[in-house]
Amino acid sequence: MAKLLDGKTALILGVANKWSLAYAIAAAYSREGAKVVLTFQGERLKQTVEELGQEIGASKVFQCDVTQPAELERISAELSGGLDAVVHAIAFANREDLSRPFVETSRDGYLLAQEVSSYSLLAVARATAPLMPQGGSLLTLTYLGSQRVVPNYNVMGVAKAALEATVRYLASDLGPKNIRVNAISAGPVKTASARAIKDFSSILDVVAQHAPLRRNTDPAEVADTAVFLASDLGRGVTGNTIFVDAGFHIMGL
Ligand code: NAP
Repeated sequence: MAKLLDGKTALILGVANKWSLAYAIAAAYSREGAKVVLTFQGERLKQTVEELGQEIGASKVFQCDVTQPAELERISAELSGGLDAVVHAIAFANREDLSRPFVETSRDGYLLAQEVSSYSLLAVARATAPLMPQGGSLLTLTYLGSQRVVPNYNVMGVAKAALEATVRYLASDLGPKNIRVNAISAGPVKTASARAIKDFSSILDVVAQHAPLRRNTDPAEVADTAVFLASDLGRGVTGNTIFVDAGFHIMGL
C-alpha cells in the first residue's frame, strides 16, 4: 500500500534524545516512507542522534548548530539531491529566564531566546528553500505560551510569538514557490527543553484536568499531524498554527 510520504526527503532539525518531539516526527516520517535526514546541535549529541537515526533508518545524520552560518551552509552540501520537507524543532532559553519574574529577563537572555527559537526558522528557510524547486513543506513547533501567559514560560513565550509571525511572513514569501510554512502548537510534553521550565509538571496537571480530551498530548499525535502537513494531503494548508493539544487552547477556565 502506498505510504503518505513515499518518495519524499525530509530534513529534521532538533533531535536531542528519544523523548524529543523531533524524534517522534522523524519516526513517523520514516514509517510513512520518507527518506529522513537528521541533524544535531553539537558533538555532545552526536552518538545519541546517530544511534536514534539508525533505529529509524535515517539516511544521513550531521551536525547543524543553527546559530552558526557555516553550519547552515552545510545543509545544501549535504542535501544536494533536494528536499521535500523540513522540520524545525529547535528552541533554547537560559534556565534562569524560565524561572524568575519575566520583568527581570536580561537583554542577552532575550536576544538568545529570539535567535535560537525564532530567527533560526528564517535562517533555515533561507538555507532550504533553494533545495525545494518543486515546492515543499516547512514546519516548526510552537506553544500556547505565545498567545497567553503561562507561568514561567516568560521569554520563550515572546520568542514563540515572533516564531508564529515568522511562519506567516515566510508563508507569504515562499507560497509562490509552492513552499508551505506552518506551525504545530503542541500541548506540553515532558522533554529535556520542557524540564527547564520551572514547575513544568504542574502545567501537565492543569492540562490533564481541563483539556476537552481530559489528558495530555502524546508526541505521536504531534508527529501524525506533522505527517499530514508534509504530505500531499496538506497541499492547501499554509501560514497556519495548528493546535495538537487535546483541545486545551479553547478553554477559558
Ligand atoms: P528537545 O528534545 O530538548 O528539543 C529541542 C532541540 O533544540 C534540542 O535538540 C536542542 O539541542 C536543539 N537546539 C537548541 N539550540 C540549538 C541550536 N543552536 N542549534 C541546533 N539545535 C539546537 O525538546 P522538545 O520539547 O522536543 O522541543 C522541540 C520543539 O518543540 C521546540 O521548539 C519546543 O519549544 C517545541 N515545543 C515543545 C513543547 C513541549 O512541551 N515539550 C510544547 C510545544 C512546543 P540541545 O539539546 O543540544 O540543546
